[in-house]
Amino acid sequence: KIEGTERIDQYRIRVPKGFVQGMRTEGIIFVDEILEQELELDSVRQVANVATLPGIVGKSLAMPDIHTGYGFPIGGVAAFDTEEGIISPGGVGYDINCGVRLLKSNLTRDEIEPRIKELVDLLYIHIPSGVGSTGKIKLNYEELKKVARKGAIWAVEQGYGEPDDLQRIESHGCLEGADPEVISKKAYERGKDQLGTLGSGNHFLEVQYVAEIYEPEIAEAMGLFKNQVTVMIHTGSRGFGHQICDDYVREMIQATKKYGIELPDKELACAPFLSKEGQRYFAAMKAAANYAWANRQCLMHWTREVFLRVFKLSPKELAMSVVYDVAHNIAKEEIHMVNGKKMRVVVHRKGATRAFPKGHPELPQCYTHIGQPVIIPGDMGRVSFVLIGQDKAMQETFGSTCHGAGRLLSRTQAIKKAKGRSIKQELANRGIIVKSAGKETLAEEMPEAYKDVSNVVDVVHNAGLAHKVVKLKPMGVIKG
Ligand code: 5GP
Ligand code: MN
Ligand code: MN
Repeated sequence: KIEGTERIDQYRIRVPKGFVQGMRTEGIIFVDEILEQELELDSVRQVANVATLPGIVGKSLAMPDIHTGYGFPIGGVAAFDTEEGIISPGGVGYDINCGVRLLKSNLTRDEIEPRIKELVDLLYIHIPSGVGSTGKIKLNYEELKKVARKGAIWAVEQGYGEPDDLQRIESHGCLEGADPEVISKKAYERGKDQLGTLGSGNHFLEVQYVAEIYEPEIAEAMGLFKNQVTVMIHTGSRGFGHQICDDYVREMIQATKKYGIELPDKELACAPFLSKEGQRYFAAMKAAANYAWANRQCLMHWTREVFLRVFKLSPKELAMSVVYDVAHNIAKEEIHMVNGKKMRVVVHRKGATRAFPKGHPELPQCYTHIGQPVIIPGDMGRVSFVLIGQDKAMQETFGSTCHGAGRLLSRTQAIKKAKGRSIKQELANRGIIVKSAGKETLAEEMPEAYKDVSNVVDVVHNAGLAHKVVKLKPMGVIKG
């Protein structure tokens, strides 16, 4: 237990005002007693630090996958008044619009099992991965600006996927108001050859099957059935978003001084949302978010092509389509009820997923009657989940829930633990075929490096933020 925190109920602890100086509101961390034992003091301090920021509305929140991040904790959710509050790049993270897309198919587990090795090999060839990997798409400056403005719509216009994919992407894969003019040359340089690449380490493409169904009607409405093959794609805005974050952290350090904002940690550098600096960052962040949606759209298209080739099916027979695509590193302008009043706020979700309930006006028509699918990866050896957003999330967490299992071991700790072992072989013994670009990736990313996602998901399920719909098990994984 972290000294100074108080348990509220089975699923939540409070970080009271006074935990650090200058807190304007209290912090709430969604953890049960099991996960509370894994809490890092630094991450709890970060929840408290966020509570000192000007214009914070409601509480400074964190999900059960919380761990220490840059300024804000990963697993953190914080909303700020658009009139009096701030926006902060640290509240979004370096990989702007890192997120997850889930694809379904008509194939079943036994149909692909005998060919999984061949499938993984071919996916590995066609899905560029690894640090600084470049792809098959080379963009000039003008074209990259179009990607920044249009996101997944650009990709579909270029023939990557179908118009119908767009409705099942958060924000339809395109945030309005992205401004290509507030982005540095350096960001463009880094972004021009990286569209359609997975990236390194934690990013992955995983072939899975539906192992368990918790809510049959909701699963059916999402088109999911037992033993069905699914594909999960986890990547973000690559060097483009990273450079934008880097550029704006620097700009925000200046802005923090200019506007006289006092910070307990300089990594919380921020600017008033409505200031010139705040709006510039927001417009640049949207451009990076759009790049990430275009990226996942391209990767999905090549995944479909590989499946069609390996299984010699027509697109109609394969029926590989998007279940949903979520952003888990993003800031969004949204309307929320705060103390019985409708308010416009900037919700920062950093390692947190939107989880809107049924009936929410921002949901696509196909999901208004059930709620928003929430995609929660676990790790490459155990399981992942699909959940569905609930009303309680709107009431308690600005419509948000966790984004994964969350790291348990640092990369160095994981490498140490994997010494003398072959993670690849251990996974193969359990029937999971893994291929990775980075030399140390499999050690850094071994299942034990992460918390048990089943425990994490149980907390948000039991707290009522999002309900479990299906459990997915890995069969083949491409790691960065
Ligand atoms: P992050 O965006 O924080 O790097 O990662 C999100 C989550 O993805 C992690 O918290 C972890 O639970 C999960 N994850 C990382 N690697 C894998 C993988 O290879 N397969 C699956 N299914 N999940 C993973
Ligand atoms: Mn991510
Ligand atoms: Mn990422």
